[in-house]
Amino acid sequence: MIRKLLRRVFRRPDADNKLEPAVIPVDQHGIRREQISPVAFKVCNVLQENGHKAFVVGGAVRDLLIGHPPKDYDVATSATPEQVRDLFRRSRIIGRRFKIVHVMSGRETIEVSTFRASHDVESAETDEHGRVLRDNVFGSQAEDASRRDFTVNALYYDPGSETIIDYHHGVADIRQKTLRMIGDPRARYREDPVRMLRAVRLGAKLGLTIDPAARTPIREMAELLENVPAARLFDEMLKLLFSGHAVKCLEQLRAEGLHHGLLPLLDVILEQPAGERFVWLSLENTDDRIRAEKSVSPGFLFATLLWHEVLANWENRKLAGESPQPALFEAMDNVLDSQARKLAITRRIGADIKEIWALQPRFERRAGKAPYRLIEQPRYRAGWDFLRLRAQSGEISMDLVDWWLRFAHAGHDEREALLAQPFPDEGSSKRRKRRRKPAKVGAEVTAP
Ligand code: ATP
Ligand code: MG
Repeated sequence: MIRKLLRRVFRRPDADNKLEPAVIPVDQHGIRREQISPVAFKVCNVLQENGHKAFVVGGAVRDLLIGHPPKDYDVATSATPEQVRDLFRRSRIIGRRFKIVHVMSGRETIEVSTFRASHDVESAETDEHGRVLRDNVFGSQAEDASRRDFTVNALYYDPGSETIIDYHHGVADIRQKTLRMIGDPRARYREDPVRMLRAVRLGAKLGLTIDPAARTPIREMAELLENVPAARLFDEMLKLLFSGHAVKCLEQLRAEGLHHGLLPLLDVILEQPAGERFVWLSLENTDDRIRAEKSVSPGFLFATLLWHEVLANWENRKLAGESPQPALFEAMDNVLDSQARKLAITRRIGADIKEIWALQPRFERRAGKAPYRLIEQPRYRAGWDFLRLRAQSGEISMDLVDWWLRFAHAGHDEREALLAQPFPDEGSSKRRKRRRKPAKVGAEVTAP
């Protein structure tokens, strides 16, 4: 109590907030207004014409300086959320705790946030570990810059004058390829442990080196991630896995000691010898697809990451005498539940994951009507892609994958010929399956 009071009386004025920012002209940074999204440009323009300050901020400015195409655009403004909403027909206020405005135009959505004050640790509401729970006070532009995480993320681009307002030497840090924390890294990680994951992700994605002052504390503070709500961790893991640099991010997480025992998912990815090849193949595959701007599905990726857990769990159940089909479903639920404690996998993604897993044993039935039914499944393609990855990692034979490729594309006669082929390794199980067929048909008919 007394210490808190003393700290408040003698608090060092926040030097950063007093600093005049550097105003960097276009001939020094090179970002022309034509390079930014026309919608972001318009949003800034309308706000400025109505007497407010407005800038493109955060990831977009950073990415443009590095030469990456920005993923999306954020605008920071002195206008309140209500003022912003009143200026744009297609806009809505979202968030209850801290309101931001989504301004929509065509297929684009610009996130507009009002300058926010840097929380002062004495008065902010925190949990017992110092994690800031509320961070919702409007502030000045300088305060808004200070509450951001890294210097390269605190750059404000004014499309009107084509200048960059730089409070924390972010432009210089980008030139030096350094990811530097604003303020004291330990304090900033305590306020929000997710910043440790952001440091690793942004470093890997942008090819920036994490400044030693920000890098060193990660190892010792890693356990603070335990207190982060599961839904937030899930969001951050999605960003990491779909950054197009998942392989690099995960290697980096391991190097920083940010894996062991933190998230069961990371243990699975980084510490299971059985599924290691499969998991890394899948991550490489995801990175390639994202860089080629192809679609990726979180359900598919999570299904691959957790598959060997399911296999092990399933195997144990079968050894204990459970019958295969129900045992597989039990194993799937078990594995997903064990993840859910730390990582809130959304219900929809959970359903996608299970669908892909449940299809796998069905690829082994190459007789009767079953193959015809399987290729009609809406998730057949995802199931087959998954099967192929299993073969590529050496878990199963590539022959099975090729057989299904041919079967799916063949005409009727060729299909019948394929079905008539003997499958030496499946011979006995096929006979068994044939005998059990009536029960199976019933089960499949009732399945959705
Ligand atoms: P990307 O969108 O490429 O993942 P980004 O830096 O734009 O990276 P966002 O989550 O979109 O990440 O956040 C936008 C901006 O908000 C950041 O650039 C940063 O200034 C600020 N920000 C985001 N998360 C935090 C955080 N945990 N602590 C402090 N500032 C943050
Ligand atoms: Mg962003």
